[in-house]
Amino acid sequence: MVVVMRTDATEADVEHVVDRVREAGGDAFVSRGKFRTIIGLVGDTEAFLSMPLATLPGVDQVVKVGKPYKLVARELHPQLTTVHVGDAEIGRATFSMIAGPCAVETRDQALAAARAAKAAGATVLRGGAYKPRTSPYAFQGLARRGLEILAECKTETGLPIVTEVLDAGDVEHVAEVADALQIGTRNMQNFALLKEVGRVHKPVLLKRGLSATVEEWLMAAEYVAQQGNTEIILCERGIRTFETATRNTLDLAGMVAAQIETHLPVVVDPSHATGRHDLVAPMARAALAAGADGVMVDVHPEPSEALCDGPQALTPPEVEALGAELAALATALGRPMA
Ligand code: PEP
Ligand code: MN
Repeated sequence: MVVVMRTDATEADVEHVVDRVREAGGDAFVSRGKFRTIIGLVGDTEAFLSMPLATLPGVDQVVKVGKPYKLVARELHPQLTTVHVGDAEIGRATFSMIAGPCAVETRDQALAAARAAKAAGATVLRGGAYKPRTSPYAFQGLARRGLEILAECKTETGLPIVTEVLDAGDVEHVAEVADALQIGTRNMQNFALLKEVGRVHKPVLLKRGLSATVEEWLMAAEYVAQQGNTEIILCERGIRTFETATRNTLDLAGMVAAQIETHLPVVVDPSHATGRHDLVAPMARAALAAGADGVMVDVHPEPSEALCDGPQALTPPEVEALGAELAALATALGRPMA
């Protein structure tokens, strides 16, 4: 961190800042320019951030120069992380497809979607049993019954399961069935929930908050990692903008920016990002071309009958076609689909 003094700051003002930093256990290096003095701080940035440095006499601004995240930072952990979800490996060496129903609605619907995911080449099955719906009157998911159906889908297809957990109190029993726990966009900054999944030995799929910056998203991952769980997959799922042609705006640049900052894998959900089935395949291809570690897509055997997010769901033939297309493209790009 750097403290920039005002041009009219006195020597006593500079010394006062230095004293305060040293009292807090840090060190301060003063650099005197022609017009301004700047003070470089060395030590515990968090301790400095909690001090009212900006309000001290003669201080113009306090500038953070380091990254606020540490455990998830690529700078400090250059080795890229591969996250294991059951037998599936999500990381930079391959390109992975996660597919399945948005919500588990019935046994037949979930099984049909799971079979299609498998046939498409997906290595992880998605499906929500606890659904975070905007309206309290909308279908909220089958809860424990949904988890039972997911377990049956896993037995039949052999695919490991990622499913959302909405409440810290549900983490334990969801983790009994899930191979990975999903934190949805609306809960990205539910810090109690992040800490709870951080204490569980299951990978976490952390969706980007719909109004979160890349830095806030990485700080949410830092909460999970800080509890000891660094098996985290980040998922870009679109952010809120002024645009109404799509449900959200897919931020592929933000996805790559996150990959540059972190050693964790980053996948893209073109279904929730666009809300439109006709845009899912183009955006999945774009995500692969941009270097994403995988995609997560919604599948429904009968999208027009879906209780949740039908307009963005691919039918079984559509997801199979997308899987074949992505596999060919991934091979061409030297990152086989697996
Ligand atoms: C989902 O993947 O089912 C979901 C609810 O996504 P999001 O949290 O990104 O809206
Ligand atoms: Mn959904």
